[in-house]
Amino acid sequence: MTIHGKSQVTTWTGEAEPHRRSFAEIGNRATRLAGALREQLGVQQSEAVATLMWNNAEHVEAYFAIPSMGAVLHTLNLRLPPEQLVFIVNHAADRVVLVNGTLLPLLAPLLPHLPTVEHVVVSGIGDRSALDGLNVQVHEYEELLAGSSDSFDWPELDERQAAAMCYTSGTTGDPKGVVFSHRSVYLHSMQVNMAESMGLTDRDTTLVVVPQFHVNAWGLPHATFMTGINMLMPDRFLQPAPLAEMIEREKPTHAAAVPTIWQGLLAEVTANPRDLTSMKQVTIGGSACPPALMEAYDKLGVRVCHAWGMTETSPLGTMAHPPAGLSAEEEWPYRITQGRFPAGVEARLVGPNGDLLPWDGESAGELEVRGNWIASSYYGGAAGEPFRPEDKFSADGWLKTGDVGVISADGFLTLTDRAKDVIKSGGEWISSVDLENALMAHPEVAEAAVVAVPDDKWGERPLATVVLKEGATVNYTGLRDFLARTVAKWQLPERWTFIEAVPKTSVGKFDKKVIRKQYADGALDVTKLD
Ligand code: ADP
Repeated sequence: MTIHGKSQVTTWTGEAEPHRRSFAEIGNRATRLAGALREQLGVQQSEAVATLMWNNAEHVEAYFAIPSMGAVLHTLNLRLPPEQLVFIVNHAADRVVLVNGTLLPLLAPLLPHLPTVEHVVVSGIGDRSALDGLNVQVHEYEELLAGSSDSFDWPELDERQAAAMCYTSGTTGDPKGVVFSHRSVYLHSMQVNMAESMGLTDRDTTLVVVPQFHVNAWGLPHATFMTGINMLMPDRFLQPAPLAEMIEREKPTHAAAVPTIWQGLLAEVTANPRDLTSMKQVTIGGSACPPALMEAYDKLGVRVCHAWGMTETSPLGTMAHPPAGLSAEEEWPYRITQGRFPAGVEARLVGPNGDLLPWDGESAGELEVRGNWIASSYYGGAAGEPFRPEDKFSADGWLKTGDVGVISADGFLTLTDRAKDVIKSGGEWISSVDLENALMAHPEVAEAAVVAVPDDKWGERPLATVVLKEGATVNYTGLRDFLARTVAKWQLPERWTFIEAVPKTSVGKFDKKVIRKQYADGALDVTKLD
């Protein structure tokens, strides 16, 4: 904040000018925030302090104030269903919540179910009246900062102390808390900044679309402050049109988001062309990036780097930079993998019988990883002990990722599926991701999700749910014929349905459990081809 004091966090406001704040100002304000939290709100060491915020400068201030004072930054995923948010806040026993005014309509109805919350600190625009009559003390963020000193007696912290935590989205059972130590955040940030990862400098600007509540925005807020990388923050303007506008106007050199965001942006700039070429590299991860999407961005002059990770891995697990000295054509097969493991991430593949599999690009097994920024347990709650469910953690510290794939001899990971999404047909596995990628390569297909459905003869068979682009004329047989060009005949889906949109999870990934349920409930209009 001193050395890179002039670097900036730019927050989109939806008005003529975005809001700009230098790293030096953010440092000063983070100091004031820490003082206010301690002196005025009584925040203690190791206490979790929640944020319910968009990506913006104030959220960055919380990112530095809370961990540096010895408390634990607890980012809340604003897209979770209310009952999960209630579970999470109660589990962590959050006493203080920092919230953007625009999110009060979300927070206020939850507060009667959050007995531990005593203080709500509101920043930015938004009607405060939603909090009237509720049993909490309401503070204005700016007033707290104005009434606080610009020096703070920062404590000496143990590097293994908790700095932040984040809950997984709880696709099965209750959400699980993952705690990140100062040490793991620091080491992960150094890895993010390596040339073979995101490799950015203070001459760069990164557009942080991935939410700050989604695994610490993939480590970007920490990595940027380490090397002075400017940040462009979209706040609540996450729709394709404003994203396209902010890229054209602010010219970020890098951006990070899940494939869904990039699909939406692609449709937008196809309809209303914009110049995106300032972006030298965009990082796409969180779910498999369809090769067709990567190709489309290549054509727009934007290079995609595919990455894999999980909440439990902080999240950087792999990035797909091809080896040096290859032609564009030779690079392609490397670029569409999930990528290579960096130093700091140890990996192994485990077969169905628990045997370790070779890295030969063919043997498929469950990926297990361990390392400095990889969790080895889940948070037990304010009152509980950390816990290690056997299906997630092995006794010797390996994280069982639940992802199935192969690893090449030179360490490139290709995921074929999530263990729970693999289609088991007549004793053979069909990769739902392969079928989706093949479908999304069709020029008239906007999105496609493939799930396993029960089948009397084969046990399970694929069901293809497809979203067509506007004006498309292709029918199910046409799509099956298209697939048959690249997919083995026995893998071709018989069951097809056109849908309006693929259901998405709280962080924008395909929500296949919703599709499976819709199918089970008979809510989909499915055609079965012969
Ligand atoms: P959740 O489990 O709630 O989706 P995470 O964000 O932690 O939350 O998701 C991690 C999972 O996302 C991984 O285990 C993997 O299945 C999937 N994933 C992440 N990146 C990729 C990728 N590049 N390709 C395929 N799957 C991915």
